[in-house]
Amino acid sequence: MQKKALITGVTGQDGAYLAKYLLEQGYEVYGMITRRSTPSTWRLEYFNILDKIKLQKGDLTDSASLMSILFSCKPDEVYNLGAQSFVAASWAQPLLTAEVTGLGAMKLLEAVRRFCPEARYYQASTSELFGGLKEYPVQSETTPFHPRSPYGVAKLFAHSATINYRESYNIFGCCGILFNHESPLRGIEFVTRKVTSAVAKIKLGKQKELRLGNIDAKRDWGFAGDYVKAMHLMLQQDTPDDYVIATGRTSSIREMCKIAFEYVGLNYEDYVVIDPEFFRPAEVDLLRGDPSKAKRVLGWTPETSLEQLICMMVDADLKREQN
Ligand code: NDP
Ligand code: GDP
Repeated sequence: MQKKALITGVTGQDGAYLAKYLLEQGYEVYGMITRRSTPSTWRLEYFNILDKIKLQKGDLTDSASLMSILFSCKPDEVYNLGAQSFVAASWAQPLLTAEVTGLGAMKLLEAVRRFCPEARYYQASTSELFGGLKEYPVQSETTPFHPRSPYGVAKLFAHSATINYRESYNIFGCCGILFNHESPLRGIEFVTRKVTSAVAKIKLGKQKELRLGNIDAKRDWGFAGDYVKAMHLMLQQDTPDDYVIATGRTSSIREMCKIAFEYVGLNYEDYVVIDPEFFRPAEVDLLRGDPSKAKRVLGWTPETSLEQLICMMVDADLKREQN
């Protein structure tokens, strides 16, 4: 029988990649969509899948909408990707972040428990949970958490709620502790896309400089298209569990800039300007994940190198700017 999946955050980067992947696997895909003054369906249009997804109006802050969606759809799998997902914005809007990213997950879990307790539930956890732990150069499922932003704090609540619903009610809940993952569909405010978009504009003479904050921070960057496959694999196992999804390689923002500018024959040092506006009240200095459990249990491995990822993003931004 055809499986049904419900994705919150279907209009986001991961939502679009996951919806595309699940449609290719033969799923009937339901996507929860929030009401915005301007529809944010451009990523689904990019993949030409907008008309293949059954869109359901709802919001993670609105329990009533979650309950009625779960009651009517009765999905086999629920992927909770919806969030206020930008770390920097979480200091400006801490309570909204807590409501959507934190409490929203519990509202959805509660709706699952009441209306489709057999459904398998995926929670989009994050490497931001590890935050400030300098003494752990590589982070795994057993590394202690120390979130460093209101976003990280909200995600820790959602992560703990998922484990608690698993232990309390036997909900098949899995947390994917995903390290940063990017793509040509990444939001423009995140650093990789900000860089690749600027590189394209600078190359075409439309922009003169690129203002960034702390370029010595290090991240473990992978490709969103690879990472959504891990989300799906987690829900196909016999027992629910939590997994780190990462590449195992860490690079600084500076190194990532060098790759992007060199790809179009430019030197990043001629264009990058350090601007205090983009520094954060508390920084996560270094993230590097250990994906060995995901490799061992799920058979998952990242397939895209940082160089391939950044060049793919620069190419896409060049194409956008030329059009
Ligand atoms: P995006 O920011 O691209 O997408 C977020 C999605 O959440 C959008 O569809 C947005 O809808 C939706 N959303 C926002 N507010 C609400 C709300 N109140 N109710 C319901 N939905 C809402 O994020 P990504 O796709 O990059 O990430 C997916 C998930 O994975 C997020 O939870 C993120 O925090 C997490 N994550 C991401 C990582 C990454 O590197 N990308 C790393 C680790 C975790 P709208 O378009 O209407 O605003
Ligand atoms: P995050 O890891 O989820 O916060 O993803 P981001 O892409 O937003 O940020 C990654 C890192 O880049 C963080 O350490 C930021 O401090 C750093 N960074 C430096 N300059 C910028 C900038 O201009 N924008 C963003 N978004 N991040 C920046």
